[in-house]
Amino acid sequence: MIFKQLFDDSSSTYTYIIASDKGREALIIDPVIEKTEEYLKVLKELDLKLVKVIDTHIHADHVTGISELSKRTKCTKIMGEHSKSEVIDLRIKEDDKIEIDKIQLKAIYTPGHTDCSYSFLMNDRVFTGDTLLINGTGRTDFQNGSAKTQYNSLFNKLLKLPEKTIVYPAHDYNGKKFSTIKDEKNNNPRLQVGSVDEYIEIMNNLNLDNPKMMDVAVPANLKGLTLDQL
Ligand code: FE
Repeated sequence: MIFKQLFDDSSSTYTYIIASDKGREALIIDPVIEKTEEYLKVLKELDLKLVKVIDTHIHADHVTGISELSKRTKCTKIMGEHSKSEVIDLRIKEDDKIEIDKIQLKAIYTPGHTDCSYSFLMNDRVFTGDTLLINGTGRTDFQNGSAKTQYNSLFNKLLKLPEKTIVYPAHDYNGKKFSTIKDEKNNNPRLQVGSVDEYIEIMNNLNLDNPKMMDVAVPANLKGLTLDQL
């Protein structure tokens, strides 16, 4: 299997390029628009045909590369059914399967960070977007976020996956690349709560500044802008 985890320094975003082998179909999760050439280079080097691109949710901290990639490769743009993006080709819902050559992802609806957040399970690993981060969880204070909903997504969905499942988040701010469900269950400080009310209390008192790109990124991502439209 080809599995590339690429990092965008300016937004600390992880992007994933997945394919079963060289010369096969490929899929990208959470691309950053400024990195488009880098993704295209990787695809070319491995002789991959990009057929699908997924955003786990409407991002507030970077402009998504899905429209630019679709313009350049004709790949299908995929998001969850609750996404307010104007440019999505395929809207998936809970338990839907996303397939390319010999690879299958299962959609898990995990709202809370936003109301359109999805996670994707692929065999031994899960792409958790900003729902479950390594030693953290995605903020819930904008884009119809909800700490209560996120608690349910975490405790009743993601943490119910087999403990050895590898966690690949959409961001990390401390240089960590992956984790496991077991490690997060045991060590993630946000998950050491005894009740939903305790979790809500933590999330409602984070007092975070808005992401610096938010006023640019959210409208651009809703419209699905390409590089020449930015
Ligand atoms: Fe996010």
